Amino acid sequence: MKNYPEKSQKKKDSVATDHFDKSTLTANDFELLKAFEKRRSEYDRLLEESNIIYSKKTCPGCGFPTFDQNELFTTCIICLWEGYDSEKNNTYQGPPNYISLIEHRVNVSSFLRSFNQNHEIDGSIDEIMKSIKEFEQGTKSIDRDDFENNLKNILPTKLKEK
Ligand SMILES: [Zn+2]
Repeated sequence: MKNYPEKSQKKKDSVATDHFDKSTLTANDFELLKAFEKRRSEYDRLLEESNIIYSKKTCPGCGFPTFDQNELFTTCIICLWEGYDSEKNNTYQGPPNYISLIEHRVNVSSFLRSFNQNHEIDGSIDEIMKSIKEFEQGTKSIDRDDFENNLKNILPTKLKEK
């Protein structure tokens, strides 16, 4: 699982539609979408419950707390989702992402599921936010070729104990 889940399902050269057909979602896809919702609501709750105010909100693509408050000018450092008014129209496949938000969530959740087989996020919300800020201010750039490595660069993670 080395390939980045970015824009991998670019639409074919068809002019018929600019929208993802939700009827093609499988049971497995729905499970992955559920995992996304769970991850995001958990981070929303943790952000809200923290005693520190962070100028961040959860990313509509991966659910991690990487997005700036003004999402129009944000690209997620973890899943590379580019902000626009995407939540209302989650089947739209045009620019800037060229993949629908739904497909992107499925892809990212699938990568995270395999990551979670051997790893876990290790830290409180404040440690996670500190780690994200340090990455943003540091010299390491986003590893666009390796989702797992990129995640490890940005978040505090550890190997799961067997
Ligand atoms: Zn993201």
